[in-house]
Amino acid sequence: MPADQPGRVLLADPRGYCAGVDRAVIAVEKALEIHGAPVYVRKQIVHNKHVVATLERRGAVFVEETDEVPEGAVVVFSAHGVSPAVHEQAAARQLRTIDATCPLVTKVHKEAKRFAADDYDILLIGHRGHEEVEGTMGEAPERTQLVDGAEDVANVQVRDPEKVVWLSQTTLSVDETLATVDQLKGRFPGLQAPPSDDICYATQNRQQAVKQMAGECDLVLVVGSTNSSNSVRLVEVALEAGARASYLVDYASEVDEAWLEGVSTVGVTSGASVPEILVSELLDWLAQRGYPDVETVKAAEERLVFALPQELKQRRQALAVDTSATD
Ligand code: SF4
Repeated sequence: MPADQPGRVLLADPRGYCAGVDRAVIAVEKALEIHGAPVYVRKQIVHNKHVVATLERRGAVFVEETDEVPEGAVVVFSAHGVSPAVHEQAAARQLRTIDATCPLVTKVHKEAKRFAADDYDILLIGHRGHEEVEGTMGEAPERTQLVDGAEDVANVQVRDPEKVVWLSQTTLSVDETLATVDQLKGRFPGLQAPPSDDICYATQNRQQAVKQMAGECDLVLVVGSTNSSNSVRLVEVALEAGARASYLVDYASEVDEAWLEGVSTVGVTSGASVPEILVSELLDWLAQRGYPDVETVKAAEERLVFALPQELKQRRQALAVDTSATD
């Protein structure tokens, strides 16, 4: 609670849903509309507790692997992407797949395939065990090495230091990744960069907005789930950029009131997989505790929208034809 006068909130813009998450969530909703429940989803469609629980209530069934899906059923692949081996497993079980991989993840898969075909060693900067990393590595497993932070740099071995390229997970910290690239260049001066940024526009913009406001904030609250890479990065970026404290919460109810002691300015943002309703609830919660004034801190304009997965478009067209035939 602020001491004597009302506290203020700095609200990051952009925040919340990116184009890839929006598309993936709509893909599951449309699949339920078209095929009826249950629709199976391999892994969490996006890394957000609230989104997953909401879709579960509508009839989505989340599984870890395709062998948990009944033969012939509909399965959606998550925004994080899958390796070619997963596509093969799904085909072997005659699953009807809807691929909601974010097009910006697909772009990295294509880069991995192309560099592997040109016989490069690929150094993939990313977090060990993250689904996106597993999917991208699966495109060229024999040519790709994971570099999970600075401590992995010393272990990298390449066949030809003149034929080595770095790629990255889409949701990393921009600054940390550049530091890792610098270290890799120290070992391999001929290291090539990806043809365009692998860290996606949404990750970069959300980090930029937090950087702009963090220096003025006693506390930065990031709405997001603990398994959401880009949300966790926002907490780290806030602290590095000068916020006195920063926490990740799924819901307003998780905020500890003790965090507000002596705090006059609270920064608020949300990860790329977080629906705006959760931010609105947090702003209401803060207003009730002495932080009624909200100022937006704008870092970028976002207008990107992705078309729905091809499989849904085809199915919707087929339904439209059927309907017109009976008119
Ligand atoms: S965070 Fe970036 S890569 Fe991930 S779904 Fe969103 S736009 Fe795509």
